[in-house]
Amino acid sequence: YYNNDTIVFQNGKWLKAKDASATMYNQTLHYGIGVFEGIRSYKNVNGCNIFRAKEHYDRLLYSAAKMHIELPYSIEELVSITYELLDKNNLTDAYIRPLVYQGMNMALTPASETNVFIGAWEWAKYLGNGPLNVMISSYQRPNPKSCVMEAKVVGHYTNSVLATTEAKKLGYDEALLLDIHGNVAQGPGANVFFEKDGVLYTPPAGNILPGITRATIMELAKELEIRVIEKHFTPEEVYDADNAFFAGTAVEITPIGAINGEKFKGNWDESASNSLYMMYRNKVQHNEYQGLTIV
Ligand code: PMP
Repeated sequence: YYNNDTIVFQNGKWLKAKDASATMYNQTLHYGIGVFEGIRSYKNVNGCNIFRAKEHYDRLLYSAAKMHIELPYSIEELVSITYELLDKNNLTDAYIRPLVYQGMNMALTPASETNVFIGAWEWAKYLGNGPLNVMISSYQRPNPKSCVMEAKVVGHYTNSVLATTEAKKLGYDEALLLDIHGNVAQGPGANVFFEKDGVLYTPPAGNILPGITRATIMELAKELEIRVIEKHFTPEEVYDADNAFFAGTAVEITPIGAINGEKFKGNWDESASNSLYMMYRNKVQHNEYQGLTIV
C-alpha cells in the first residue's frame, strides 16, 4: 500500500505514509465508529480522472452525518485534495482510500475530534478477472435496524471479513450474503447482479450498500436498452440465472461462475452482462464520464 516515498494526507498535512500515526485511544480502533470510501482514478490523455469523485465524497459526508461525525471539509475540498494526492504520488490508475476516524475517546458517544486520512495506491481488480467460485455465506448482512447499512461504516466490515474468510477457508473465491429475511443481499465488498433471459436483476435498497458502480451500471443498461429490475430474490431463484457478476469500485465488474457449486449455464461472452462490462470498460476506464481532470 505504501513505500518509503509514499505521501498521504492527514488532517490538512502532507506526510510520508510511514510517518502518519494515530493514538491507541482512538475510538475507531476500539468501537468501529468511523467512515470511509473506496474510489478509483483512471488515466486519461490529460492526466487522470477520479471516477464519480463527487458521488463518493457525497456518500462519505452522508455516512459521517449518519454516524454523528462532523466532517471539516466540503466535497469540493476533498476532491481537490485527492487530485493533489495523486499528483504528489505520480499516480493515475489508482485506488483511493479516504478514512474518517475519531480522536481519543473511550465513551460511547462520538469523539469531539474528527480526523481525515487519504491514501492512494495502485490496485488491480480486487478479486481478479473471475469467473468467481462463490458460496452463500452462513453470515447474514447485519439487520438494517441495528446499524445504518446504507452508510459505509468501518465497523460494518467485521461482517464482510467474517464472510470472506469463511468462504476462502472452504476453498471458495468469495462469499454472497443473504439478508435477515433469507433473500440475496450482496457480496462482502460489492453489489450483485444476475441475468436471466437478457434481463438483469439486483436486490433493491434496504439491506445493501447502494453502490456507485451499481448505479452506474443501471445508467449504462438504459443506454444499451437492457432492462434492470430491482427486486428481492431467494438463492434458489439465483441458481436458475444465466449469468451473474459482482459490481463495486475495487472489483469493478467481475463475473461469478458458480454459486455453491451450481455453475451458471449462460455464455458470458454473448450475455447482456458482458455488453455492460464492455461499455463500462470503455466509458469508465477511458474517462468518458464527467469529472474533474488534472493536467
Ligand atoms: N457493498 C459494500 C459492502 C462495499 O464495500 C462496496 C464497495 N464500496 C460496495 C457494495 C460497492 O459500492 P461502490 O460501487 O460504491 O464501490
